[in-house]
Amino acid sequence: MQEKGTISIHTENIFPIIKKFLYSDHEIFLRELVSNAVDATQKIKRLASLGEYEGKVGSPRVEVSVNKKKKTITVSDSGIGMTAEEIKKYINQIAFSGATEFVEKFKDAGDAKEIIGKFGLGFYSAFMVADKVEIDTLSYQEGAEPAKWICDGSTEFEIMEGKRKKRGTTIVLHVNEDSEEFLEDSRIQGVLDKYAKFLPIEVKFGQKEKQIEDGEDEEGKKKYKTVKENNIVNNTAPIWTKSPSELTDEDYLSFYKELYPMSEDPLFWIHLNVDYPFELTGILYFPKIKNDFEMQKNKIQLYSRQVFITDEVKDVVPEFLMLLHGIIDSPDIPLNVSRSYLQSDGNVKKINSYITKKVADKLGELFKKERESYESKWDDIGLFVKYGMISEEKFYDKAKAFSLVKNTEGKCFTLDEYAAHIETNQTDKDGNKIWLYANDVAKQDGFISTAADKGYDVLVFDTPIDSHFINHMEMKLEKTQIKRVDADNVDKLVDKDEKKELVISDQEKESLKGIFDKAIGSQTYTVAVEPLAPEDAPVSVTMPEFMRRMKDMQATGGGGFNMFGAMPDNYNVTVNGNHKLADKILKSEAEDAKEGLAKQAFDLALLSQGLLDGKDLTEFIKRSTEILGE
Ligand code: ADP
Repeated sequence: MQEKGTISIHTENIFPIIKKFLYSDHEIFLRELVSNAVDATQKIKRLASLGEYEGKVGSPRVEVSVNKKKKTITVSDSGIGMTAEEIKKYINQIAFSGATEFVEKFKDAGDAKEIIGKFGLGFYSAFMVADKVEIDTLSYQEGAEPAKWICDGSTEFEIMEGKRKKRGTTIVLHVNEDSEEFLEDSRIQGVLDKYAKFLPIEVKFGQKEKQIEDGEDEEGKKKYKTVKENNIVNNTAPIWTKSPSELTDEDYLSFYKELYPMSEDPLFWIHLNVDYPFELTGILYFPKIKNDFEMQKNKIQLYSRQVFITDEVKDVVPEFLMLLHGIIDSPDIPLNVSRSYLQSDGNVKKINSYITKKVADKLGELFKKERESYESKWDDIGLFVKYGMISEEKFYDKAKAFSLVKNTEGKCFTLDEYAAHIETNQTDKDGNKIWLYANDVAKQDGFISTAADKGYDVLVFDTPIDSHFINHMEMKLEKTQIKRVDADNVDKLVDKDEKKELVISDQEKESLKGIFDKAIGSQTYTVAVEPLAPEDAPVSVTMPEFMRRMKDMQATGGGGFNMFGAMPDNYNVTVNGNHKLADKILKSEAEDAKEGLAKQAFDLALLSQGLLDGKDLTEFIKRSTEILGE
């Protein structure tokens, strides 16, 4: 029996097109061939377990080998094999409706993965790297004849009787000139490590050397010898395929190390497991966040039935969880279609909200059961939680119960706890609860201690996401304002409408303001004389909260806030009319002396805020030194 035929597609030149369009992702051919071999092997195992195949199955494995001299790559399995009829049916009639359509649609496509999957080009991706492909196969079916298929990359193929005695399939690729990189063991090993690491059937690629103990020498020292053993590239039973009840913490931690060998242990993890309305398993780890680099490096990996697909999980995993590590395995994610389709896909949306919910539930559970340890991890977890609360309404609804705020003393509160904590002392005349915060505890120490003297609590919001978080919380929380501790004079931060008397006259107040205006001499500062306690600072410089907030948002790239362009600095200068310095200035004889004192007091206020630098600082020091000498 020997037969020649034409592969039934509607254009003569499909292979050059495949080669051209799939250029960027050539290595995928190996993923396709190896996963076909794995499928065929799993099928024979299933048939045997169903009693539909009575031959010996044993523990079959898939073998990949390279022959550099002959320039071939071979993938062989002892799976179900194919009859000649099946080859004609499954291989020759390429499973896409028309090559013309294919060419039209993907003229501009760059992503080979999309095309391959959509059109079932799996097997044909071999022609990206080979100019001749052979299939040598024997079906498991009783009385089946071995069959051999050869195709040289044109639409012509030959099919003939084979010589194979053992069940299974061997695919031989005659590697083309442009693809000789794939004749290097290291290249093949690399591709297998990437795509085949967790395939469910053992994949063997060559042999590796191993040192084993070999008795002792005369001096009683251990001897070793080198032996060769099969190089199995995969772990066939990764822990995500198991039930959480079979697993210990050590299992999860060592799997993490297997995925990311160089990383520090994660904080905790979530084992995902659904089978309805979509199938999904996986493990998501919460990493310790040390720096951006770390976050970038370890991405979540997406698998489909243990075949690695990609680590671009955008759309499948909610954006705020992309910083997590681990793996997701789902045959229900349409992996091979275009991005826009993926975004509108119903399953993807469901998966997205499932993951969000699972993460929220896990955090809620940790908070409830192990609050102390949860609090100790808050600095790491907080980033996810805050990001999630800002970006996903559903997550916010759950997270508001376990989102924490931390004060300058390191004490943690939930949002409700905090509202209750400050209610008595920090409610203003209009019934607004005022939350105070510092973003730089060292720099704002003066303001923090003034606030503490008043019995006020001060929170710490010092991460890049906090300015966004504060904004969001102000929108969400009822009658609550959040102000940085140096946003105003302490009396004004929580305005309780307590009238204080100014000891100087209205006229003196005006003249004091005039003196300061002149001494400062800049539009950036708006001077006001206020009746503060005599022991309060004589002068303080503050930036109004709203302005600070916009500047913070600009600095962290808050979109939509750039309509003002770069915001100019604007500060309020509060002169304490009841301080003895006010009196001293007013009573000074010479105009020079008045302004000199005002300037010195103003510079001191700037200095206390870390706002004095450059020339101004140099001059201040010069002046101060002179005063000391007088
Ligand atoms: P897909 O795997 O997406 O169906 P392929 O083009 O990769 O598309 O393969 C087409 C078909 O050829 C498979 O569905 C299977 O029936 C058959 N096939 C491919 N490789 C093997 C193999 N190693 N053993 C048995 N059958 C195979």
